[in-house]
Amino acid sequence: ARHTDENGVVVIGLGRFGYHLAGSLVQLGHEVLALDRNAERVQRWSGALDRVVQADSTEEAALRQLGVADFPRVVVAIGASVEASVLTVLALTELGVPQIWARATSEKHAKILSSVGAHHVIFPEAETGERVAHLIVSKMLDFIEFGDEFAIAKVRVPASMVGRPLRELAPTERYGVMVVGAKLPGERFRYAGPETVLRPDSVLIVEGSIGQVQRFAAIS
Ligand code: ADP
Repeated sequence: ARHTDENGVVVIGLGRFGYHLAGSLVQLGHEVLALDRNAERVQRWSGALDRVVQADSTEEAALRQLGVADFPRVVVAIGASVEASVLTVLALTELGVPQIWARATSEKHAKILSSVGAHHVIFPEAETGERVAHLIVSKMLDFIEFGDEFAIAKVRVPASMVGRPLRELAPTERYGVMVVGAKLPGERFRYAGPETVLRPDSVLIVEGSIGQVQRFAAIS
């Protein structure tokens, strides 16, 4: 049967990363075809994911037979074996998959993946390592960097800012950051505006350059 779901995603390699990725895609409502060459892995995840098949993704014919070419997006989540990951991307390129996402474990691996035709290269270990480093050495509760120095962070309200509206605190003039959201414990985030008054246990979402966000998070 040919495939028609334009939201479908194929996930290749059900190691720790691939499995979590596939599970999240299912939760987001996407049809996921997961494949791994290891029978035990296939067995282990076949209950949790709806379509898990055993196949060697370096074999173009096997991918074709499974209908992988009919999916708009494929993620190569193989990490440990650079050879398997590169050969898989090559096979997917041959099949003409429109969007190939591939996981790299090093800069060189990333270069090879791009040169054999991966459209998007992701670095989960490097990105998580970098993000967690920021969390460990600062008071930020969460942190995302978007490149070009731009970042968004989740931070506790500095004690000196409690009880006053943002209009008076003027975080943009003083610190260069924009406070975009605020929440109290047990509540949802709301957009912050000039009249938003910060509470002692409020949590804020602020955006700005990495340096500005870090300096804001360090205010007491
Ligand atoms: P993680 O670090 O996320 O645990 P691994 O690189 O250890 O990732 O796991 C990769 C997964 O990819 C393993 O389950 C492995 O069996 C699978 N895999 C490796 N090579 C192939 C291949 N040629 N075809 C299909 N699956 C593969």
